[in-house]
Amino acid sequence: MNQTAIIGAGIAGIATAIRLQIAGHQVIVFESNSHLGGKLAQFESQGFRFDKGPSLFTLPKLVEELFELAGKKPENYFQYRRLDIITKYFYEDGTKITAYANPEKFAQELYEKTNEPTSVVLDFLKKSKRKFDLTADLFLWRSLHQAETWLNAKALRGYLNFNQLDIFRTMNQANEATFQSPHVVQLFNRYATYNGSNPYQTPATLNIIPHLEYNIGAFFPEKGMISIPKSLGKLAQELGVKFILDSKVEKIIVKNKTAIGLKINKKDYFFDTIVSNADMVSTYQNLLPNIPAPISLLKQPKSSSALIFYWGIQREFPELDVHNIFFSADYQKEFEAIFHQKTVFDDPTIYVHISSKICSDDAPKGCENWFVMINVPNNEGQNWDEIIDRSRQNILQKLTRNLKQKVENLIITEEYLDPRRIELITSSTQGALYGNSSNNRYAAFLRHANFSRQLQNLYFCGGSVHPGGGIPLCLSSARITANLITKKKYN
Ligand SMILES: Cc1cc2nc3c(=O)[nH]c(=O)nc-3n(C[C@H](O)[C@H](O)[C@H](O)COP(=O)(O)OP(=O)(O)OC[C@H]3O[C@@H](n4cnc5c(N)ncnc54)[C@H](O)[C@@H]3O)c2cc1C
Repeated sequence: MNQTAIIGAGIAGIATAIRLQIAGHQVIVFESNSHLGGKLAQFESQGFRFDKGPSLFTLPKLVEELFELAGKKPENYFQYRRLDIITKYFYEDGTKITAYANPEKFAQELYEKTNEPTSVVLDFLKKSKRKFDLTADLFLWRSLHQAETWLNAKALRGYLNFNQLDIFRTMNQANEATFQSPHVVQLFNRYATYNGSNPYQTPATLNIIPHLEYNIGAFFPEKGMISIPKSLGKLAQELGVKFILDSKVEKIIVKNKTAIGLKINKKDYFFDTIVSNADMVSTYQNLLPNIPAPISLLKQPKSSSALIFYWGIQREFPELDVHNIFFSADYQKEFEAIFHQKTVFDDPTIYVHISSKICSDDAPKGCENWFVMINVPNNEGQNWDEIIDRSRQNILQKLTRNLKQKVENLIITEEYLDPRRIELITSSTQGALYGNSSNNRYAAFLRHANFSRQLQNLYFCGGSVHPGGGIPLCLSSARITANLITKKKYN
């Protein structure tokens, strides 16, 4: 049996463990925290439950696929539902837009609220699907670092339709050229933030993201986001994967250009295969200090981070849904502040996620659990205490203005999370949520491969390597990595 060690029980680490255990390896996962899931974590306070990290769930098939691979029925482990309303949008001029999952209904809503012709919106969503179909096989589902990826019929289709990928315009340029309404431009520009990028820099290729929500669907787990790592962890354990929690890997042991083991608590353990789900920069800096690091890859700009307030609110807001956005009145200035001035704009776009709208046990009766997040720069040693105080005031004023309720008076429990702590808890470089940003057109080629070019038997999965951050891409990285290890061919 191939003895395999995985460093880190993030979503990609768990998924890789499941795939390799099914393929006949004996897998042990070492996790420095006392819980599975990495950024997918939760906490409880005074009768409220909060998911600490991700809240947007797309492509649930990638989760289900793991249960099916193990010959199990996904619904016996994990239930989720498709959302009829994806997001409620609030603009400073009083405009309110409901983003319905049904494309025709959504297009009609945009027409009624902004005069944007329905045909323009529906055509945009069709093109989003077309771009996704042309790019996904090359850039999302396969290793970019193997010849076979570039030499098959699907790749050929991508080359022949290269002009449709919209690589030479920014997302904002493409959206301004498509839509008449600035409100609609802002709504679709927001999708750049789904991987922590800047719509005024990222290539318009990223306009593939709305396809996921409007054509495939936005989903939510019946028992909160935490049920994703919980149910996958349960499956992994049933298959025989061993998780060793509270175990920080100190070094990857290398001999004859081969990764042969791990140092944990000053003891050496030996393995045939090693997979790092830890952030790429910390893997090289901390675990492989004597191996020359691929500096140019590791130095790529990181994605944005987040400042989150978790507020237990002693009231229900029927005008809010599971996902709500309160837009900044000046989106461009907000992104200039985040990505160029490396600070936080005083009129930030606020995301309010309320899981108790679906999981009624997440808040006491008559209350709601608010996850209130703004995008912020990654950690470069800013004065976060000052930023947090200032942002809290700005957020409260903006929500109070929009909801016509003094929100501060309704908060009965409060916690927060900032980039410093995200970095500390999950070892994510600079507290970036999604590894590297996608702010230039070469970003896809500047992520680390899923294998080591220098060391035999060493592989990588997770948000800091190919194909990038976010739950779906982390699950894809697990599939790519497991296929590389087991030498499985793509279908
Ligand atoms: C606030 C927030 C909101 C987000 N929102 C969304 C969203 O809505 N939708 C979405 O799809 N994605 C979202 N993301 C991004 C998503 O959470 C990540 O891309 C994904 O969870 C990363 O998974 P991963 O497998 O790379 O591992 P991580 O979750 O980064 O976990 C890595 C694990 O490795 C462990 N580790 C590191 N070093 C060592 C070591 N030396 N020894 C042992 N263990 C180690 C860490 O403790 C950690 O548990 C969000 C992230 C955050 C923080």
